[in-house]
Amino acid sequence: SKLREEHIDKTKTVCTYCGVGCSFNVWTKGRQILKVEPQAGSPANDISTCVKGKFGFDYVNSEERLTNPLIREGDYFREATWEEAISYAAKNLKRIRTEHGTDALGFIASSKATNEESFLMQKFARQVNGTNNIDNCSRYCQTPATIGLFRTVGYGGDAGSMSDLQEADLVITVGSNTAESHPVLASKIKRAQKLHGQTLMVFDLRKHEMARRADEFYQPKPGSDLVWLSAVTKYIIDNDLYDHRFVEQWVNQFKEYKESLEPFTLEYAERMTGITQEQLIYIANTIARADKVCVCWAMGVTQQQGGSDTSTAISNLLLATGNYGRPGTGAYPLRGHNNVQGCSDFGSMPNFLVGYDDVSDEAARERYEQLWGVSISHKKGKDNHEMVDSIHEGTLKGLYIVGEDTGIVDANINYVTDAFDKLEFLIVQDLFLTKTAEQADVVFPACSSLEKEGTFTNTERRIQRLYQSMEPLENSKPDWEILQLLANEMGYLWAYSHPSEIMEEAASLSPLFAGVTYERLEGYNSLQWPVRAGGIDTPRLYEDGFPFEDGKAKFYAVSYRVTHELTEEYDLHVNNGRLLEHFHEGNMTYKSAGITRKTPNSFLEVSKELAHERGIEEGALVRLTSEAGSALVEVHITDRVNGNQLYLPLNDNGKSAVNLLTNNDVDVDSNTPAYKEIAVNMTVIRDK
Ligand code: SF4
Repeated sequence: SKLREEHIDKTKTVCTYCGVGCSFNVWTKGRQILKVEPQAGSPANDISTCVKGKFGFDYVNSEERLTNPLIREGDYFREATWEEAISYAAKNLKRIRTEHGTDALGFIASSKATNEESFLMQKFARQVNGTNNIDNCSRYCQTPATIGLFRTVGYGGDAGSMSDLQEADLVITVGSNTAESHPVLASKIKRAQKLHGQTLMVFDLRKHEMARRADEFYQPKPGSDLVWLSAVTKYIIDNDLYDHRFVEQWVNQFKEYKESLEPFTLEYAERMTGITQEQLIYIANTIARADKVCVCWAMGVTQQQGGSDTSTAISNLLLATGNYGRPGTGAYPLRGHNNVQGCSDFGSMPNFLVGYDDVSDEAARERYEQLWGVSISHKKGKDNHEMVDSIHEGTLKGLYIVGEDTGIVDANINYVTDAFDKLEFLIVQDLFLTKTAEQADVVFPACSSLEKEGTFTNTERRIQRLYQSMEPLENSKPDWEILQLLANEMGYLWAYSHPSEIMEEAASLSPLFAGVTYERLEGYNSLQWPVRAGGIDTPRLYEDGFPFEDGKAKFYAVSYRVTHELTEEYDLHVNNGRLLEHFHEGNMTYKSAGITRKTPNSFLEVSKELAHERGIEEGALVRLTSEAGSALVEVHITDRVNGNQLYLPLNDNGKSAVNLLTNNDVDVDSNTPAYKEIAVNMTVIRDK
């Protein structure tokens, strides 16, 4: 309204980028975003933000925003009304169900959408379309970590809060570029190191900022973290340095686990990881002697063929040393997207309902069946990876993707986009006409987090509300409203008038969220799950035991398999990840002029040794070729990488070099693509 245009609104929101979950006030005048102002006492960040939170909201008013639904006509799109687009999409979903059965449909939810929208997406898949074929982008990142935690301690989330990271005596990061990927969380660790003498131990291929600041920095060979973790745990157990009291009271399967460690001798570990035996002994002693230890890990661990097993090895080490359930201890898989934790928590997974109730659990299914009036299959649905395979095999015919540029972010994108070409019907819902949307039959214009209400859950299981600071742009709509329109067009009677009603329904279905209400989340209040009915929330898990039948955790034996193998033809290894200024592929951050000016392009980090050996100069254009494809990139020579290691940031202004090179290899337990295992050869195309 006119009045609204004239005055300045200050609205609380939660950052839409990473899993740290910073909250702040956005100052707006109409649609104009004047500034982002952190508020003292914000639960995750207090007065801090990073460059993305502070300057990364230009995408909201980008001229490239979609403002009307689009329907494909031949090679082009035409604008359509909501009525027409919804009816067209519903008709095609129904047709595919009738012709090929309910499991011929697949659904991919967005980890940038709200918890309520994730809940409705899985409800749309399960209630309206009768399938468990629903997944989200945690399949591309942290599902292996969740599996490792389920196997050992029982909850798929961080063991404590960020305050525990500050309290620890020793923080270990493994495969995490923390300062660039989780900047505000990294600054807490930096502060604790400086002020309380906390020890920081970093394990990574690359000498990034945290590695430079670390008290101890180790560069194990690619994909070998499981070996040093297991060798260190073996040393601790064999030398009686483990926490006897904790293990006896709280952990099962000690004997079997101890036996499984037999192969992980110091000699073997030195050979496989490149970390010397003296160093391994030093690491083991440091961990065993520290009273309070936290381990943080990210994609460097999970995006490997052994991602789930390595995550399990981390948790085994923490169990052996009694580092669960006390202040300053625990396992911290650092969640990537702002709501990747919440998207899985609220049921957008092929095997889990809300709060990780397994679809095979009859009692859990019954709660849904009674409320929704449909029967739910006890069989796990297809995950993202299996959906793409099924399209190639001809069994999956229709796909609905919300807020995910799958055609860029999935591994081996040539394979993925070929699959999308074979679909009978593709619906994409997004803010922009992404690469994936370009292949769609119908595109729904969604709106940004500043234009709607809802909740996000950050990496420490903290649920926070975001409030609406402006109207949806033109004819765009919140994801939950679009889903409701579609469900109703398909014959259901959804009648949510506000996201709080969706949360109420989710809370009524899952014991994990039973005590969550919008009233309790008012303003800057937040709740960390589990929040039992009427109960308090849980900033630290496992204080009273583990959520298994006898209240005890489990050691879980894992073994190692060499997967990173360079050959004569593909003789270099490409690692990849984020840069501080950009978020993943950058389809939001590239809409900020300031950020784009600062970091316009991606580049390939090449070590000084390799550049010298091959006579490559700074700025040279090279072609990287893997088994899957090839990409052109400019060279940046740096000492951040070593020897034959190359590093390629994910942001690439729509070209996505990384996923032209990745192949179809996955972590065997989770189907998470092994993004970090790329072997390539490199040829110079232009000298400078
Ligand atoms: Fe946003 Fe993460 Fe930066 Fe915080 S640290 S402002 S949540 S991108």
